[in-house]
Amino acid sequence: MNSKFSYQCNDCGREIPGEGIVYLCSECAGRQKAGQPPAGILKVIYNPLLLRGLTFKKLEENRFIDLLPFNDTRSLPFLRTGNTPLYRISGRETAIRGHELFIKDDSQNPTFSFKDRASAVVSAFAKEQEISTIVAASTGNAGSSLAGMCAAQGQKAVIFAPASAPAAKLTQILMYGAVLVPVNGNYDIAFDLSIEATKHFGWYNRNTAYNPLTIEGKKTAAFEIYSQLGHRIPDRIFVPVGDGVIISGIYKGFEDMLKSGITDSMPEIVAVQAEGSSNLVDNIGKKEFNYTPSSTLADSISVDIPRNFRMAEKYLLQYKGKTLKVSDWQILEASRQLAAQTGLFAEPAAAAAYAGYLLTCATGITGKGSINVLLLTGSGLKDLKSVQPLLHIPEAVSPDIHSVTSLLKENTDLL
Ligand SMILES: *Cc1c(COP(=O)(O)O)cnc(C)c1O
Ligand SMILES: [Zn+2]
Repeated sequence: MNSKFSYQCNDCGREIPGEGIVYLCSECAGRQKAGQPPAGILKVIYNPLLLRGLTFKKLEENRFIDLLPFNDTRSLPFLRTGNTPLYRISGRETAIRGHELFIKDDSQNPTFSFKDRASAVVSAFAKEQEISTIVAASTGNAGSSLAGMCAAQGQKAVIFAPASAPAAKLTQILMYGAVLVPVNGNYDIAFDLSIEATKHFGWYNRNTAYNPLTIEGKKTAAFEIYSQLGHRIPDRIFVPVGDGVIISGIYKGFEDMLKSGITDSMPEIVAVQAEGSSNLVDNIGKKEFNYTPSSTLADSISVDIPRNFRMAEKYLLQYKGKTLKVSDWQILEASRQLAAQTGLFAEPAAAAAYAGYLLTCATGITGKGSINVLLLTGSGLKDLKSVQPLLHIPEAVSPDIHSVTSLLKENTDLL
């Protein structure tokens, strides 16, 4: 009998026992309409009796296991997942506006993206349930992350990806030894097929906004930020948003601390989307969900119907979150600036959050002395193609010093 946690439906509020494998609230999921965001996504609720007297110190000493949906941290992959650096950045904007900027560098996860936090928790749960095969539908980071974590754990990963997915995105999946199922169709079709295959073959599914444990992994970034800021809640956190799972995870982490009496306030969270893929921020508070087909170079946040829209919307409304949109050009420019000024090379989705930060600075609302945090969700090496428009690789020179001097003529500071 699992007394540690149960599930609660995000839509109808029904509680479901935390027994075995549970994905969605069957009542709400059954009422799903085409063209609308999925309903019946579940939230993990921890037994308050077991959380009595929980302090942050104890939570941290036990590697957050009191607020994680499995029993033993030794079930986690041996690869260091999460526990990423929080860098204090002093740049032009911070100097002018007199605020603080911190960057949580989650590109330093084992497979180079934030998704490892979710894959690690799902994999640990699977290990404790003696499940050996985990399946996911993905076009990129979630699939490569699950493949890497399963490789570390001696588990089998099966990744369903649209056949049109760029070859570079599939390389990690194959190198980690996962079984790749290229699907004739888009992500949504791959998603549905992966769920059918999960049922047919009796596998375990990691799909985002389907398996409720992914959010539990993602929330650990909130715990770490609180810890790394010396037990302080930041004023503002910039989060890049596609399906709305990462942002819900960050909210959930701070909410778990609030509900267990560790903290007494919530940060302001800024949801940043690309102008060409803004269906989540555009539909907040609207009676009816309407979507525009997405088109942005930031492929990790390119989403038509955000799968975790309902939960993200609820969080943003309840805790008065903010929303921002940035253009693809602003994303590229932000990516260049961030890399050149800090040495942090982010993939476009992650650079979108930095673009959102720069936009906020420009409007002057960061506030003197405020603490701002940015989630750097993925490495720039994951997507070299989209930054090509920024690059100009010089013509090769003849091996003599005159050619070098002439090549350097624009870099007068070097001469
Ligand atoms: C998945 C992902 C996101 C967006 O997360 P959602 O949960 O889909 O909102 C942002 N950045 C990177 C690098 C990602 O891989
Ligand atoms: Zn429900």
